[in-house]
Amino acid sequence: MNQIPLAVPHMSGNEQKYIQQAFDTNWIAPLGPNVDQFEANLATYTGAKDVAVTNSGTSAIHLALTLLNVQNGDTVFCSTFTFIASINPALYLGAKPVFIDSEMDTWGMSPIALAKALKDAAAKNKLPKAIIVVHLYGQSCKMDEIMALANRYSIPVIEDAAESLGSTYKGRQLGTIGTFGIYSFNGNKIITTSGGGALVSNDAKQIEKARYLASQAKEAAPYYSHSEVGFNYRLSNVLAGIGIAQLDVLDERIAKKRAIFDAYETTFKNNAALTFLSEWQETFNNRWLTTVLLEDILPEKIIEKLAEKGIESRRLWKPMHTQELFQDATYYSENKEGSNADILFQKGICLPSGTQMTHTQIALVCQVLGQICK
Ligand SMILES: *Cc1c(COP(=O)(O)O)cnc(C)c1O
Repeated sequence: MNQIPLAVPHMSGNEQKYIQQAFDTNWIAPLGPNVDQFEANLATYTGAKDVAVTNSGTSAIHLALTLLNVQNGDTVFCSTFTFIASINPALYLGAKPVFIDSEMDTWGMSPIALAKALKDAAAKNKLPKAIIVVHLYGQSCKMDEIMALANRYSIPVIEDAAESLGSTYKGRQLGTIGTFGIYSFNGNKIITTSGGGALVSNDAKQIEKARYLASQAKEAAPYYSHSEVGFNYRLSNVLAGIGIAQLDVLDERIAKKRAIFDAYETTFKNNAALTFLSEWQETFNNRWLTTVLLEDILPEKIIEKLAEKGIESRRLWKPMHTQELFQDATYYSENKEGSNADILFQKGICLPSGTQMTHTQIALVCQVLGQICK
């Protein structure tokens, strides 16, 4: 049993009120007033034109790819350095992923590698139907560079902001810059509905279509009428109640996450063995998890030593191009000599970042980590 977990759900105390309302009014269904309210509040918070809440972040990505008409045999570009949920929906549609390396400033998709991949694809007349960029660990990718490339080839961008709700790029909420953005409310994310997600866009018509596709593509008719494939992807009205109360405390959670990051960074600012993911210029990072690269010491070693003291830590995402599932996929690294995403995987760990951490707990993690990385 870990005394200090990586991060666990942190309820505000108001969730039960909305759950009770759902019970009192018998809206125990994947629709209802909490769903409408949660969508409206998310639109207000993010500034997106419209929002459809879903039963997971993964289903939101599946809807986005479906709306972009991704089909069997199509290509989808995706960051290699991510959680597999970013790309699984492309496989559901029979599309082929092409993986793109990270750059080292933000750990996000490398515009250099993306430019190479797009140039090759254009030469082969096989441009991707979509580019999925992932804002990992709360940190925005270099969106101006990525959007300029995407626009040059007229490729729509899906922002996987599952880990980055509340983070910004040049003042804009992540998820609202590309054609679509997605968030996740899984139990490990900065706010949670136990399981859930959201699809956002500035094209309200597309979100309306997403709601329809997510409800078995049931057409407006006095009987059950269908002309295309649909899904059962809407968020439960009970869980949306949790989401309303969670969104109300998102800014508080971000402030605490950032304070935890600052405590770690301040403690180790003169320790050359530890390099924290920096907040790139003109971005604001929600600091979902504090992540750090280690010099001259293996992640497993640190993870083991921390675990001996009841402290949980984790490796960073294992790049998709190194997964057996994707052994045949094409990969574009930023430079010929090596792959940045592999370096990040080999060197990085996530430190405990739960918003219920006490000062004493943060100090204990720092003390143990300091002893290992002297
Ligand atoms: C959590 C996560 C998802 C998927 O979200 P679910 O709600 O669990 O389906 C997608 N992408 C990234 C990068 C994530 O961390």
